[in-house]
Amino acid sequence: MSAPIVAVRITNSATYSRSRNYRSAGHHRLAQLTLSVKTFKKLSSDDALAVMSSAETTTPTGSSGNSETLSGSSSNGCTTETTTTTTPASSSQPKSRDTTREASWPWVLFYIHLNILGVYGIFVLFSHTSAITLVFTAFLTLCGILGATAGAHRLWAHKTYHASTLLRFILMLCQTMAGQGSIYEWVRLHRLHHDKFRTADDPYYSDKDFLHGQVFANIRKLSPRQERLLAEVDMRDLESDRIVMFQKRFYWLLYPILFVLLPINAPLEYWGDTVQAAIFVAFSLRYLLVLNVAWMINSAHFVWGLDKNHKQSDSNMVFLVTKSYWPQYHYLLPFDYQSGEFGSYGSGCTTAFIRICAAMGLATKLQTMTTDAVKRGLTMAVDSGRPIVDCLKQAGAEDMCNLQREHYLKNERLH
Ligand SMILES: [Zn+2]
Repeated sequence: MSAPIVAVRITNSATYSRSRNYRSAGHHRLAQLTLSVKTFKKLSSDDALAVMSSAETTTPTGSSGNSETLSGSSSNGCTTETTTTTTPASSSQPKSRDTTREASWPWVLFYIHLNILGVYGIFVLFSHTSAITLVFTAFLTLCGILGATAGAHRLWAHKTYHASTLLRFILMLCQTMAGQGSIYEWVRLHRLHHDKFRTADDPYYSDKDFLHGQVFANIRKLSPRQERLLAEVDMRDLESDRIVMFQKRFYWLLYPILFVLLPINAPLEYWGDTVQAAIFVAFSLRYLLVLNVAWMINSAHFVWGLDKNHKQSDSNMVFLVTKSYWPQYHYLLPFDYQSGEFGSYGSGCTTAFIRICAAMGLATKLQTMTTDAVKRGLTMAVDSGRPIVDCLKQAGAEDMCNLQREHYLKNERLH
């Protein structure tokens, strides 16, 4: 099963994508709507850009914006919820002390040292490391990535599925092994990131190049304005989650035990590997990998994205590399549990992990999106003039009521 890929062919795309207010534009001529996984690759980049551009005129669903929530029930008893955002994010913040981001020097020094130690770890990996340490390091790396993607991102930040207490506890331990701060702080920043996507208030924002997006945006302090916005993010759902709050309270203890001592101590204590292997491979190289994989989520668009302002792409060569329109898909449909950060909507390892958990009864209510629902959502957006993200969310919620309870077990496209 694969999530649909979103593309729309709009004859009058220039007018459509430039329009900041669909209602005031007066007319919306959607001459031809094409949405199909098979035809997607035949579309030109400009077609997709029309959707992406129009999506960026909206504020993606977040919690710190000025929004109202509408709830209703369909005839078959399924509850649908629609969030209508009324205040679009502004990208024209005046450059002042209030919006300036200073360098975080402790982070800068730490990052320099981590790179030196991690790169040396590559040499140690091939010279002083036993196979069992290699497998152990790979396992811890996978745990950390799953904790960040399946846990902090898809479960806690976007609520794309429900998880049992056992699964949430395991994901909490895994997320601690990612070394990216507590779940609470991670989610708060990520919600602000979605809410202020690609504006100066976005904590991962960079309008320059890949290096700025990958490194510099992550080693700066937040601006005073961002600090204020961060404090306004609605975190009530996580504050009622005892596992999240337990980790937040004891992170100072969990982090050194699970993230520092475990990977260094285990190779020395249990299978007698070298000190170099424990410090430079199991700790430094692993940390460097997990950190850069996580940061790449916000910087990869400079290389593989389709935004005209970042990377011109007038050919379909980009599909040969990514086979998808990620990560734009996720910003249009953040509630889809299949949002593949690595270019595979339906077959990524995080998606597979969530499906296995669902088959075991640990994860329930997996939210996804069918092609028909995407068509309805896009048509709804054009007809009503409402933000595309909200319309897609409404159509997706309605569509979930019609899907079989165990639809995630079927490895087929949803049409
Ligand atoms: Zn997200």
